[in-house]
Amino acid sequence: MSEISGKASAATTKKSTAKGDSSFTPTPEILSLWKEIHGNLRNEFGEAVFRSWLKPLTLQACYHGTLEVSVPTRFMRDWIQTHYATRILEMCATVNAEIKRLEIVVVQNAAIFDDTPKTQDTKQKVIRKANQNEKAAEASLDVTSPFDPRFSFDTFVIGKPNALAHAAAQRIVESQNVPFNPLFLYGGVGLGKTHVMHAIGWAMKKQWPEKKVIYLSAEKFMYQFVRALRSKDTMMFKETFRSVDILMIDDIQFMSGKEATQEEFFHTFNALVDQNKQIVISADKAPSDLLGLEERLRSRLAWGLVADIHPSTYELRLGILQSKRSLLQADIPDAVLEFLALKVTSNIRELEGALNRIIAHADVTKQLVTLETTQDVLQDLLRSHDRRITIDEIQRKVAEHYNIRMTDMHSARRARNVARPRQVAMYLAKQLTARSLPEIGRKFGGRDHTTVMHAVRKIDELMNEDPQIAQDVEIVRRALTG
Ligand code: ADP
Ligand code: MG
Repeated sequence: MSEISGKASAATTKKSTAKGDSSFTPTPEILSLWKEIHGNLRNEFGEAVFRSWLKPLTLQACYHGTLEVSVPTRFMRDWIQTHYATRILEMCATVNAEIKRLEIVVVQNAAIFDDTPKTQDTKQKVIRKANQNEKAAEASLDVTSPFDPRFSFDTFVIGKPNALAHAAAQRIVESQNVPFNPLFLYGGVGLGKTHVMHAIGWAMKKQWPEKKVIYLSAEKFMYQFVRALRSKDTMMFKETFRSVDILMIDDIQFMSGKEATQEEFFHTFNALVDQNKQIVISADKAPSDLLGLEERLRSRLAWGLVADIHPSTYELRLGILQSKRSLLQADIPDAVLEFLALKVTSNIRELEGALNRIIAHADVTKQLVTLETTQDVLQDLLRSHDRRITIDEIQRKVAEHYNIRMTDMHSARRARNVARPRQVAMYLAKQLTARSLPEIGRKFGGRDHTTVMHAVRKIDELMNEDPQIAQDVEIVRRALTG
């Protein structure tokens, strides 16, 4: 999250926090402190936990030794409170000893004010939009999430990697009836899945204003479902989801291992397909690779059109940068855009983040953007992209750290003192390389991909429970990435 967006969210949602006094608006120091801590959370808790729970944490205020952060739902607040709050506070306190308390508040829509520096004018528009959406959401049982005004078809740059997903999405908007069901979009983090879904939402509103469109994350679906169960109001829940024209569920991988939610979703899915209503799903993997989902659901998901968003190409990245430059009316030389497109290859979100940082830096320092300032500002980012970590390296470092032999990484020995380090190495291989689970398994003496998946989950879990493991993983990670 950029510094600017932090300010925007704090300023725009303050009224909904308990302490709305403007003197509590975070200072630049606190903002950068929070940025650092938030970044560290990913290392501390692992990618999966970070993405599911910690990423949405947004800095709201800092006052009298209390750091106030927000999350979009009560459910998340409670969960973070019981599982992560103590550790987060500890981390805060190490960075700034004055912080004594962590307060987690619920601010709906906080998540939509992220990433992009906005002019005052668009900021106002965004706020108004968010308010409107909030009202709409209330009327429909609060199940649908607002669409991000930045994510429309107009702002989506089409390239080879996303052409199929884009065409499929447009087909849905243009069709009188359901062209394929479901549309299943999948691809890695930050490649545009959510953007495409929001674009469908905006376009539907325009083209078919009478149609009822529901968009929400799988996590929110689960939350709604659990709440319905608790308040014994599943009728209302079923009613709401089964009376829509288009149901879009983002990041379905979140349902992995959550059997009751999957079951309910499966029935909703079937009911909608029966009524010939459109369903759009996104995930980080192909249906057949969603191993935490029940077989019948997985096969159902693959029934319609499966559209894979591939990692971006140089041309697409350059196109996106050019489009953003003109949208933001920023004065940036072509050479800088070309440089970024060449160097920041991981995903589009990171690419946008890099561009935003350069713009913010130029803004603050009143300097022109040049290749030199760019390299300077993005030093840390570029360094991490210059090196590709291999599974071999990971195995070697982990073996070194635990003082076991390299051959134990491949061996079938199950003794705890070698099995655990091996799991740590698998975990890091998943986190630090782009290798798939089967590929990783092969590198570990031809193990099955489910073994790797189990290891990744296990370590993720252990890192939450056992500070020693968390620390071991962190030390090796640093040694590899530092
Ligand atoms: P995902 O949901 O796949 O993790 P997002 O949809 O959130 O990714 O996209 C991450 C960021 O990249 C968003 O800000 C989005 O607008 C931007 N983005 C991704 N693909 C494109 C594209 N083809 N054109 C313009 N912006 C894009
Ligand atoms: Mg997404």
